[in-house]
Amino acid sequence: MTQPAHSDRPRHRHYDADMLSVEDALARILSHFRVLEAEELPLTETLGQVLAEDVVSTIDIPPFTNSAMDGYAVRAADVAGSSAGSPVRLKVVGGVAAGGLPDVAVDPGTAVRIMTGAPAPDGADAVVPFEDTDELDRRKAGGQTDVIEIRHAAAPGDNLRAAGMDVARDAVVLSAGTVMRPGEIGVAASVGRQTLRVVRRPRVAIVATGDELLEPGETFRPGRIYNSNSYSVAALVRKYGGVPVALGIARDTVESLNAVLDEAVRHDFVITSAGVSKGDYDVVKDVLAGRGQIALWSVRMRPAKPLAFGLLPVPGGRPVPLLGLPGNPVSAVVAFEQFARPAILLMMGKKMLGKPTIEAIMDDAIVNHDGRRVYARVVVERAADGRYHAHLTGDQGSNILSSVAAANGFAICPEDRARVEAGQAAAVQMLDWPEEFF
Ligand code: AMP
Ligand code: MG
Repeated sequence: MTQPAHSDRPRHRHYDADMLSVEDALARILSHFRVLEAEELPLTETLGQVLAEDVVSTIDIPPFTNSAMDGYAVRAADVAGSSAGSPVRLKVVGGVAAGGLPDVAVDPGTAVRIMTGAPAPDGADAVVPFEDTDELDRRKAGGQTDVIEIRHAAAPGDNLRAAGMDVARDAVVLSAGTVMRPGEIGVAASVGRQTLRVVRRPRVAIVATGDELLEPGETFRPGRIYNSNSYSVAALVRKYGGVPVALGIARDTVESLNAVLDEAVRHDFVITSAGVSKGDYDVVKDVLAGRGQIALWSVRMRPAKPLAFGLLPVPGGRPVPLLGLPGNPVSAVVAFEQFARPAILLMMGKKMLGKPTIEAIMDDAIVNHDGRRVYARVVVERAADGRYHAHLTGDQGSNILSSVAAANGFAICPEDRARVEAGQAAAVQMLDWPEEFF
């Protein structure tokens, strides 16, 4: 790819007085969000949600001292001196399997045949595994002999799992604020929990605007384009844990937009796309402005400079935040990742709101024309040198949605750099991780 001759500083850097940094825009946005209330859900439905209670164990785990091996429960003192050369012979007085209860104690000079997971009989303080006994000979004799030969010494506690060793009764096994992952779901089940209180998922209303838009499924007509933003945004909402509610397309009329927004305010968050750029004659801006505290911003980033944000008043209720994404499909996705994703995570009670970011060596240069933070669509791969390398996915125009589809990351050229050269390192926000990195 050929690039214009480079200088050390952006050539057309202009600091628009009203331009907000990405950080300032994000801080303003997040100040209007709060953690949502809790709901009680069946355990298996809590995956990815944040615990809203401490989970306390009402039992010991394991609940009783049990055997870690198939073998013989013994008194360690009886076999302290046994070895292959001088085995100790014990009288077998019974047996116990997992799920069973011992009906006999281990008195001095005796042993109980025990299976993994079975409760240790009274008197036993160690288990000698079959391999350290003459169990095979005994089995050949049809198990008829009532004597077992112990060929290895045992110390107290050997091959026993003590009651409460994993979790003690009354201990907090998961604390409020924990994100429920498969491991946490297993822990909650292991203490007998069937339901949990978790922060509920936000319901996010998605509104496309524009007279040019057709819904997928409609017959294509000249001069029109299919609405893709609602679909990529709905998928992003779901990906980050929200419940997307697509409200279709608002036409560029005051009535149409107002009707859709009246419906949209019944949700936790409203995301619109298009109609917010400065040179636009769209009615979106007028309608948003007419609805109250909604501002149009220029954010020092590329793509996705124009952004709208504010609160939609709700009669008799708490105002609902509205984020107006730019219409260009790439801009909509980039702005969503920077601003809508952290808002959704915040509502879900998550603490880590930043996008997972790595450093990669750029195999192509990123060019910054005008002092904005550039988010370049890249493919990150681990190269033969063992490091992450990133290359551009092609044309970086904000209308080239395939550049997003092909990417697994956004490589960043900071606003104060004119270029990141090929061979230089860049921070890359990861959208996905190639399987090999797991
Ligand atoms: P606007 O912000 O209204 O000037 O739109 C910017 C560009 O994004 C225009 O080319 C629009 O046609 C396009 N666009 C707007 N909304 C959508 C959408 N929902 N899906 C795909 N492209 C869109
Ligand atoms: Mg438009």
